[in-house]
Formats: sequence, C-alpha cells, structure tokens
Amino acid sequence: MNVNISDSGIKLQLVEECGELQQVLCKTLRERCKGAFPVRKTTGTIYEELAEEIADVELLLGALMRRLGPDFCEAVSGWKIRKVEEREELRKEVGEFL
Ligand SMILES: [Mg+2]
Repeated sequence: MNVNISDSGIKLQLVEECGELQQVLCKTLRERCKGAFPVRKTTGTIYEELAEEIADVELLLGALMRRLGPDFCEAVSGWKIRKVEEREELRKEVGEFL
C-alpha cells in the first residue's frame, strides 16, 4: 500500500500519538503510587506501551521533519544544541535536574 500523507495528516497523527504518549506517561506515574491511584496493567505492560508510544512519536517527528526539508532539520539540530547548552548551564546553577 502506498499512502501519501500530507503535512496535515502527519501533524494530525502526531497530535494523536503525543496524546497517547501523555496518557502512558501518566500511567507510569500512577503505577508508582499503586495504593493511591490503582492501575490495572502490570509495570511491564505499561513500559512496553511507553516504548511503543515513544516509537510512534519519534517516527512521526521524523516524517514531519523530512517533509519540512533539510533547512528545517538543520534548525531543529541547532535548537537541540542550544537546549543542551541551556540545560548544562542551568545544571551548573541549580544542580542536578535531568
Ligand atoms: Mg500510539
């Protein structure tokens, strides 16, 4: 099957997958405090789902970046470098955080 997905199609799927990632991340936090916020799934299942949702989001981010072109990909790389530098500066100021 050859499906040509538009920018909007990729963005729509990405929004949906980010929602699924958000949901499973919440589940990992709920799972930590079992007594207060019971979850029906096992820890293993939750982390398998987390891996799946991260994969979904990463694949769609890659598709969107390819669609937006090499200049956009270069801009994203530049931002990543700046963000890492900012985090490193903040880590030096306030100590360990990520
Ligand atoms: Mg998904």
